[in-house]
Amino acid sequence: MRNLLVPLLLPAMGVIVVLVVLGTPGSAIAAAMVTMAGFVIAIVASRDSIQRQLQVLLRKTRGRIEGTPSGPSVAQEEDTLDEVAHLEGAIQSLHSRLTAQNAQLSQETRTLTAVLDSMIEGIWITDAQGTVVHHNDALREMLQPGSTGIVGQRPLALIRNEELNDAVIRACREGASTRLELQLEGLFPRTLAIRVTPLGKDLPGSAAVFHDVTELRRLEKVRKDFVANVSHELRTPITAIRGYSETLQSGALKDPEVAPKMVEIIHRQSERLSELVEDLLELSRLESREVKLNISHVPMAVATARAAETVRPKAAGKNIQLELHVPTDLMARGDERAVEQVLLNLLDNAVKYTPPGGRVDVFGTLEEGRCVVRVKDTGVGIEPKHLARIFERFYRVDKGRSRDMGGTGLGLSIVKHLVGAMEGEVKVESQPQVGSLFAIFLPVAAPEAASG
Ligand code: ADP
Repeated sequence: MRNLLVPLLLPAMGVIVVLVVLGTPGSAIAAAMVTMAGFVIAIVASRDSIQRQLQVLLRKTRGRIEGTPSGPSVAQEEDTLDEVAHLEGAIQSLHSRLTAQNAQLSQETRTLTAVLDSMIEGIWITDAQGTVVHHNDALREMLQPGSTGIVGQRPLALIRNEELNDAVIRACREGASTRLELQLEGLFPRTLAIRVTPLGKDLPGSAAVFHDVTELRRLEKVRKDFVANVSHELRTPITAIRGYSETLQSGALKDPEVAPKMVEIIHRQSERLSELVEDLLELSRLESREVKLNISHVPMAVATARAAETVRPKAAGKNIQLELHVPTDLMARGDERAVEQVLLNLLDNAVKYTPPGGRVDVFGTLEEGRCVVRVKDTGVGIEPKHLARIFERFYRVDKGRSRDMGGTGLGLSIVKHLVGAMEGEVKVESQPQVGSLFAIFLPVAAPEAASG
């Protein structure tokens, strides 16, 4: 506008001054009117120019925002007003700052998402109304939501639990934190420990962190059950020993009829106690992987014969026929002592749970590159419902019968651990009143090791 006004206004003002000086006011008025008209024309013309420049600036700013190139800047065009050029400069630097801030923000968001998704704990964030607005991958794994997804859902729609719902509402409305533990039923039952907290003073909403403590609680239960079982198992012989020794002390010692029987019972119970402690120690050493196995080649015929020697007197006492059918060249890869212990436990059970007059056979074969030894008896057998559990510690089909026979309930647990440690497996088939067949599968010894 300054470009148009200056050339128009200066000569017009000069003409008016000359006319006034010459004393021709009429001409001066006419000149003033001409000047005014020129002035109006100049304003209109300059308004058009500003409008045009502003339109160019608008187009270019829009192009910049949308990321499309829009040619040279307004300032490079002719007749650009300084103010428009400054405005363009300001917009440009604002745009650059915003672009840089945006890039930083999106980098931070990506980092935060990556951190949240790498966590084992599930996390959800809700808005002030308690609706989930964000969550991580672990939470999706834990909740396994249907097609509806998690974002946009209320807590009750995701986990049907009033306590959790109340905790979220309290965090949103009152800023209160809550810890709770809940059980998820369904296809994958889980125990979740949850902490719900408000987001913060200036941030409305809440956050909830979910820890999957299913395995932890299961192990705690196993430990509790184990301690209860051990105490119970130890209490029985200890009570018997204490009871009989007190009876002896209080006079029975002098009774030649009962005293030997009582001493015999005390002796038997103390043996049982020592067996229990031995088995417990063995099992705990195996579980804590303290036992270092000495892996070499094991001639299965020799190992079976040694184990059979230990149980032969007991088998003979019950008139049980014990026969071994293990080829002398059958070589397993394992720990000799461990293999013998496994076979001894299986043979001891076979003789223990077979009524007098029955038979126990041991067969050894090579099957699909594995060394297999089967211990077969014609004993009482095991009902199918117990089969999956007999390898658990202290699990006994018939507690009374097992105890009467001197069983600790730990024999098969030890078998399972030892065979597993040698990279083998143990299987069982059984039919009540017909008999049982326990089979161990071990890696076969490499030929050079076998011949060495
Ligand atoms: P236990 O010391 O009681 O024999 P085990 O761990 O060796 O403990 O065995 C667990 C349970 O499995 C036994 O109590 C018994 O009920 C059952 N069992 C094991 N072997 C046999 C078998 N050969 N015949 C029948 N039942 C068996």
